[in-house]
Amino acid sequence: MGRPYAEVIGDPVAHSKSPLIHGFWLEKLGMDGEYRRTRIGAGELPSYLEARRRDIWWRGCNVTAPLKEEAAASVGAPAGLCRFLGAVNCITRTPLSCMVGTNTDLAGLKEALSDIDLVGTHVVLIGAGGAARAALCHLASSRARLVTILARDEKKASALASLLPAAGETRVEFAALDHFPTAAEGARLVINATPMGMRGGPVMPAFILDRLARKRDEPTFAFDMIYDPLESDFLAASRTGGARIKDGLHMLIGQAAPAFELFFGAAPPREHDRELREWLVR
Ligand code: NAP
Repeated sequence: MGRPYAEVIGDPVAHSKSPLIHGFWLEKLGMDGEYRRTRIGAGELPSYLEARRRDIWWRGCNVTAPLKEEAAASVGAPAGLCRFLGAVNCITRTPLSCMVGTNTDLAGLKEALSDIDLVGTHVVLIGAGGAARAALCHLASSRARLVTILARDEKKASALASLLPAAGETRVEFAALDHFPTAAEGARLVINATPMGMRGGPVMPAFILDRLARKRDEPTFAFDMIYDPLESDFLAASRTGGARIKDGLHMLIGQAAPAFELFFGAAPPREHDRELREWLVR
C-alpha cells in the first residue's frame, strides 16, 4: 500500500530544506503523507513528468534549479504570473491528469516583506535572475517609486528592467554591481537576490558590505534571500548600519505554505512557525 507524497526535484537537491518544512507540517497535522527529494537533471523533466502522471500516490512537486525555466515551458497553461516570472517552482496534477505549473516564490516574498511599507520608496535590488524577477513584481505591486537593479551583467539587469512598463508607477533603472555605494544612497530597502554570501558560494564584495555597515539616520531594511547562513554577511553589515533585517527563511517558509496546501489539501499549521524556524537552523 502506497502513501500520498510530494517531492522536490532539481539537481542538486541534497541541500533542500523543503522536505524538512513539509515533513514538519505533515507531522504536526498528523497526516498520512510524505515529502521526498528526487534528483532530476536538465533534460530529464519530460520523462519524470510522464512517470509521475501515472503514479496515483504523487501529489505534486516543488521545482528548483536548474529546472524552473524548463518547467515553465513543459507544463500545461501556467498562469499569467508564471509567464511574467518565466519560472515554475511548483507542479500539481489535475483530476484529468494534466500537469499544472505555478510559482509560489512571489507569495513567499510578499510574506517576507509584508510589514514594510514600500509605497513611494527607493529599493535597490541586487541580482537579475528568477528570484529578482519575482522581487521586481512584488516591488511594483507594492508601488515602490524607484527600483535600482544592480547585476554583474548589465545586459541582464537591463533586460529585467525592461519587463515593467515605462509609464507605470514604479520607475526602474539599472547599473553594474559596483555602483552599489552610490545607488544605496537614500534606499529604504536593499535586497540580495544572488547566491553571494551563501555557505560555500561566492562572497559578498567588501564594497557592498562597507556601504551597508555605514550608519543611516532614517529607518532602512535589508532582505537577503539566502538562508544558509541565516545571518549572512549582508545582513550582519546591514544590522551594523542600523537596518532592520529579514532573512531568506521567511521567504522559504512563505513559498512552501501555498505549495503544501496544493499538495495535501490542508492549510499548514503556521502557529508553529517559531518552532519550525528553530528546527530548520539546527
Ligand atoms: P538565478 O536565476 O540563477 O539568478 C542568480 C543571480 O545571481 C543572477 O543575476 C546571477 O548573475 C547572480 N550571481 C550569481 N553569482 C554571482 C556572483 N558571484 N556575483 C554577482 N552576481 C552573481 O537564481 P535565483 O533563482 O534568482 O536565486 C537567487 C538566490 O536567491 C539564490 O541564492 C537562491 O538560493 C535564493 N532564493 C531563495 C529563495 C527563498 O525562498 N529564500 C527563493 C528563491 C531563490 P548571472 O546571471 O550573471 O550569473
